[in-house]
Amino acid sequence: MGRDACLSNCEPRGILYWFATMQVPKSRIPFCPACGSPTKLAVPDGDEKMRAVCSSCGRVHYENPKMVVGCLVEHDNKVLLCRRKIEPAYGLWTLPAGYLEVGESAAEGASRETLEEACADVEIVSPFAQLDIPLIGQSYIIFRARMKTPSFSPGSESLECELFALDDIPFDSLAFSSIIVTLRMYIEDVKAGNIKFHYCTINKRIGAGPSDLRSFDIDNHLAV
Ligand SMILES: [Zn+2]
Repeated sequence: MGRDACLSNCEPRGILYWFATMQVPKSRIPFCPACGSPTKLAVPDGDEKMRAVCSSCGRVHYENPKMVVGCLVEHDNKVLLCRRKIEPAYGLWTLPAGYLEVGESAAEGASRETLEEACADVEIVSPFAQLDIPLIGQSYIIFRARMKTPSFSPGSESLECELFALDDIPFDSLAFSSIIVTLRMYIEDVKAGNIKFHYCTINKRIGAGPSDLRSFDIDNHLAV
């Protein structure tokens, strides 16, 4: 096919296709992990939601929330925070936390993240909070932990690490809503002399930045 023929035959179809796809949500799994063919969004038989369905082998690929695990490291009535050396939220303070890996438990993952981000070897004390963030498909589990030896330093993803007294926590410079919520609950518990286990849902307001202090609501808060 010559260039002219291609332009006349393909371009109008291309433009129409572009307009059509603008109306359709795109799959975040564009290619089939099993066979590499493109996927299309469709509601499989017996299902109610749009899924990424392979256009070749027909496999359905489900997108599920990711689990983030981390530690609230306690030492001398202070907590250990890390200042992020990576995006998102570069330069802001956080608890050592990150995505759970396949093959490790939540507690193991939280300890590993603490070792990676703060070079602190910790012992898990107890689960402190589970926080679900449905809009972005994340579920956090934060553990209370203590350092096996009082030693820490910034890992490769941290600019610095520091122990903060509860009254000195830099709430204006915290990285994520999950960290703000965790530390607020922890401070409240410590001041009440009764540290509990907390569950809640963090509902971000659409379009708000992850560190906007006013960008979320807390729902379904349970404390035991
Ligand atoms: Zn496939």
